[in-house]
Amino acid sequence: MKFSHKLTLPAALLLCAGGACAADAEPNIAAHQAQIDQIVKEISPQRIEGYVRKLVGFGTRHTMSDTVSDTRGIGAARRWIKSELERCGAAAGGRLQVGYDSHVHPVTPRLSHPTEIVNVVATLPGTQAESVDRMYVVSGHYDSRVTDVMNATSDAPGANDDASGTAAVMEMACVMARHKFDATLVFMTVAAEEQGLFGAEHWAEQAKQKNWNIAGMLNNDIIGSSRADDGHVDNTQVRLFAEGVPAVKEMSDANRALVATGGENDSITRQLARHIKETGERYVDKFAVNVIYRRDRYLRGGDHSPFLDRGYAAVRFTEPNEDFNHQHQDLREEGGKKIGDLPEYDDFNYIAQVARVNAASLSSLALAPAAPQQVKVRTAKLDNNTELTWQANKEPDLAGYRIVWRDTTAAQWQGAVFVGNTTQYTIKRSKDNFLFGVQAVDKDGNVSVATYPLPQR
Ligand SMILES: [Zn+2]
Repeated sequence: MKFSHKLTLPAALLLCAGGACAADAEPNIAAHQAQIDQIVKEISPQRIEGYVRKLVGFGTRHTMSDTVSDTRGIGAARRWIKSELERCGAAAGGRLQVGYDSHVHPVTPRLSHPTEIVNVVATLPGTQAESVDRMYVVSGHYDSRVTDVMNATSDAPGANDDASGTAAVMEMACVMARHKFDATLVFMTVAAEEQGLFGAEHWAEQAKQKNWNIAGMLNNDIIGSSRADDGHVDNTQVRLFAEGVPAVKEMSDANRALVATGGENDSITRQLARHIKETGERYVDKFAVNVIYRRDRYLRGGDHSPFLDRGYAAVRFTEPNEDFNHQHQDLREEGGKKIGDLPEYDDFNYIAQVARVNAASLSSLALAPAAPQQVKVRTAKLDNNTELTWQANKEPDLAGYRIVWRDTTAAQWQGAVFVGNTTQYTIKRSKDNFLFGVQAVDKDGNVSVATYPLPQR
């Protein structure tokens, strides 16, 4: 069901009928933000193609490959990524902070010797004091592999897996560094995904240790091709994998409360996915975000997992129909068919579309207020209304709050009402029959991710 923003009622007017309350004027939520339209327009398939071909040109980017050569191996690749991000950061005004995040990983079944794992991290600090600590992370992995995961010398172009995601992240960093956002954006290209997600895990663990507020993580892995293994082309959609309640032995109190109230599709990750679908589809024409209620595909994993494991909201973008002949393969011919992850199987316009969905969502999230905290639904007495309360946000550009709802069997929000700058509201709809959420809205109409209300007597 397509959600219509026109459903919004002029609630602020009703609330303020007795007196003047211009501060509660309803922002135009359906409007396109000019800044986000501009960013989406600036994403360039030509530059993305250039990045992919340059990455492929390093021969192999295997995590245990050469780090000394300037032309071949993972060392040359990461030095080039860093210098490229520094170059465009400087051209954008010098606010993009580019650096390495490095650690030496001990021997594992997929690392034959202790290996330096290096992520290239570009941070664009938020410009609003109340929001700068809130971070959104977007990542791709720049390491590559062939059939034998321990083979560090054969050509491993990894044009799709995952030069596509790396190129998308680089392009977003270069375009978005020219713009200002309230919250902080972290553009990350990581290593050792193929050896066991060690790069992403290292960064996510530091974030957890330092108690960083990672409000959302978007992983881009295998977003390069619009052509399926049976040859049909679908360049009209991308898959977005979004986990619900994690499959752990000991359920946290927060997850128990979700499940107990039918909120299993309202985990922070699914709220993030809902927001990405709505924003991505609003800003990128004729391109669908196909949310899949799973952590990942069968037999596969990705760099969003270490973030999920540490309690952060994290999702994965992947093309709709993978061709496994073009992933993790030695370059060869079989029965006249070329096998391997070569740039000729990438669709650079398609990668640009996925990058645009990412960029629109990240921009919207980083411009918007934080999701409301301490959202509760009062369940003290039997009645057919829904009384919601929440903690006030602290952003100076806050306009107020919006309550959204949907049928318990629906995936996306179906209705919304702007309720002004208040911390409680009663809706004449039964809490027993709908799922609700509370969003914070700023004066420009940027809307936060929704927060699920937990019951309070
Ligand atoms: Zn991958």
